Amino acid sequence: MESTTLQIVCPHCDTVNRVLQSRLGPEANCGRCKQSLFSGKPLALAGHNFQKHVQSSQIPVLVDFWAPWCGPCRMMAPVYEKAAAQLEPQVRLAKVNTEEAQDLAMRFNIRSIPTLALFRDGREIARQAGAMDLPHLLQWVRAQL
Ligand SMILES: [Zn+2]
Repeated sequence: MESTTLQIVCPHCDTVNRVLQSRLGPEANCGRCKQSLFSGKPLALAGHNFQKHVQSSQIPVLVDFWAPWCGPCRMMAPVYEKAAAQLEPQVRLAKVNTEEAQDLAMRFNIRSIPTLALFRDGREIARQAGAMDLPHLLQWVRAQL
């Protein structure tokens, strides 16, 4: 049987890697910067790298639109970190600071934060506004896959 490879975008240097599906995990390293493709942590996306990750990634990308001044966002941050550790390598978790990346917040019409948006093949497939605890977050994401 032929093995399937997936395009995975490196969270450290934004290089597109092709990885055997069976080898997805923390031991898969980037061909360019040699760092782990899955570090179990949310990756920060902004105007310069958002499109590349969301378009080129062949695993779904979950994006947390947040802002530093938002209390519920700060409360959800450790939950989101834990979710990254649990959902990788099935899903890539990313964060967009809407205060810095106002262009992205406008483009996706983010009306309240935190807002979670799930992208697959470059298209938004689900969105949820408001902070969630870990069980609900995991349940919501898994229900979309
Ligand atoms: Zn890299």
